[in-house]
Amino acid sequence: MNPQDALTSLAAVSDETEFYTPMPPGYKPGKTKYVGVFGTVMSGLGKGIFASSLARVLKDKGLTVAPIKLEGYLNLDSGTLNPFRHGEVFVLDDGMECDMDLGTYERMLDQNMTRMNFSTSGQIFSAVLEKERRGNYLGRDVQMIPHVTGEVKSKLRQLAVSSDADVVFIEIGGTVGDVENAYYIEALRQLAFEEGQGSTCFVALTYVLQPPALGEQKSKAAQLGIKQLLQSGIQPNIIACRAIQPVSNKVREKIALYSSVPFNRVFSMHDRESIYVIPEMIREAGLDKAVVDILGIQERVHVEAEDKARALWNDYLTRLRKVDARVTIGIAGKYTSVRDSYASVIKALEHSGARCGAAVEINWIEVSDIPLEDVADRLAHLDGLIVPGGFGARGVEGKISCIRHARTTGLPYLGLCYGFQLAVIEFARNVCGLDGAGSTEFSAECKHPVIDILPEQKQIEGLGGNMRLGGHDVVLKSGTLASRLFNGAPEVRLRFRHRYEVDPRYIDKLEAGGLVFSGKAPDFPIMQVLELPQDVHPCFIATQAHPELTSRPLRPDPFFLGLVKAAVARRKPAQVADIAVEI
Ligand code: GLN
Repeated sequence: MNPQDALTSLAAVSDETEFYTPMPPGYKPGKTKYVGVFGTVMSGLGKGIFASSLARVLKDKGLTVAPIKLEGYLNLDSGTLNPFRHGEVFVLDDGMECDMDLGTYERMLDQNMTRMNFSTSGQIFSAVLEKERRGNYLGRDVQMIPHVTGEVKSKLRQLAVSSDADVVFIEIGGTVGDVENAYYIEALRQLAFEEGQGSTCFVALTYVLQPPALGEQKSKAAQLGIKQLLQSGIQPNIIACRAIQPVSNKVREKIALYSSVPFNRVFSMHDRESIYVIPEMIREAGLDKAVVDILGIQERVHVEAEDKARALWNDYLTRLRKVDARVTIGIAGKYTSVRDSYASVIKALEHSGARCGAAVEINWIEVSDIPLEDVADRLAHLDGLIVPGGFGARGVEGKISCIRHARTTGLPYLGLCYGFQLAVIEFARNVCGLDGAGSTEFSAECKHPVIDILPEQKQIEGLGGNMRLGGHDVVLKSGTLASRLFNGAPEVRLRFRHRYEVDPRYIDKLEAGGLVFSGKAPDFPIMQVLELPQDVHPCFIATQAHPELTSRPLRPDPFFLGLVKAAVARRKPAQVADIAVEI
């Protein structure tokens, strides 16, 4: 049976057949190819970075790509996950709260993701249970195979239809052998069978150990990891070996032999100085070409498009390496021991640093234990300060003291979400004389709840008092710093994740004290950007949004660029004139 026939016959859903392969309307077999990336040996190998870099290299060739991350956990989304354990919660423009890997894809591909690009076991099972209640399974007992696996395949094909992509990139979370990921792997095995030869390319990411006591690379763990994949019925087409040093030919040969993958398709993806060189590393090794050959999509590749994209990327790498100034930016938070919980903030600083020719060193300031009298000392060496997003009462007073220091000493400041709300509170207390100003989030009984959940906001959102999530438009006031940073754009789109906001009853008082609200929601009195006039402070700006989520290597976020530029100006005033601010 040829693959097309297989697909049509498998599409049947009836109680007479063991098959359950619902086909989304409009699915064109053969149009979209699939790359599956599996992790073996251990987690933490940078699977997301590798998969997104490979996707980027294919995109550079003029191909359209659509990634999807398949998570094993049962949560419906990542909204309730503790960033301390799981890394930051990344928010998409459509409001989906998802794994931070989606941030890696957005940044690497410079492409917005949607909820179609993210799935959890919770989503899969709840879809299956809903269908069961609706009687969609025609009297059948509902099984892991074919129904749950059928749901996974359906999700992948839906993404193929909605994105019309040349290549769907499937990254399976965790490592081969995890119970919660087993049915994803089985679904991919079935997908390869149904779509037929040349439609799927499976890449196993593995790890080659190099124990210091031996001083040589050992391939056994990698062999065992790949064996486990083979036992699940997946024959990898490509093996990418992570390692500290370039993987020796001897080890590559061993891995090739044990896994039935040709030697020239076993690649060394050893550690490099920066994740941004990985796309080039993939090209130099010919891994991209192997994928194109396996999928038979040579004729869809545009060589000129690739040359152009490659040149732009290499230009970014050159800027990253060219350091004319060094600045230190403090990040005052309570999760400062876990860098993953601020992944996008770190990246956004990197992007802006590259644009300004500056190396940005980050200084983590744990605010939970910072006494007021120590603030000036602790922040003395900084060129800029960020108070990032956060929730709850812990560390709030420490953050407010840090903001006060920045406001009164001219230290460049950028507030992100909570850092915006706390800047309002600090200003209300110390400039407008509103003693006892606070937020009902951390002090329900405060005298002046300048930050509050507003009843009309609850109605507007219709989310039962839940978070205001995703992309929203922000109208910028002309003549302000915010407007200048965005090149005079009257309206911009930013991403949000918050429950509280400035109580409009206090706006007049705050403005009378000298605070400028330079960004607002178009139709509601929701304050989204604040700043101090530049004759009062060189750079004091904050936003209710999370601009770190939309910063991209080649298009740094303007708020971060403004902060880094002001930090450089403090260090090296002469250099500022040379810094390009255009976005
Ligand atoms: N805790 C604040 C709120 O819910 C800020 C949220 C955030 O920083 N993401 O509005």
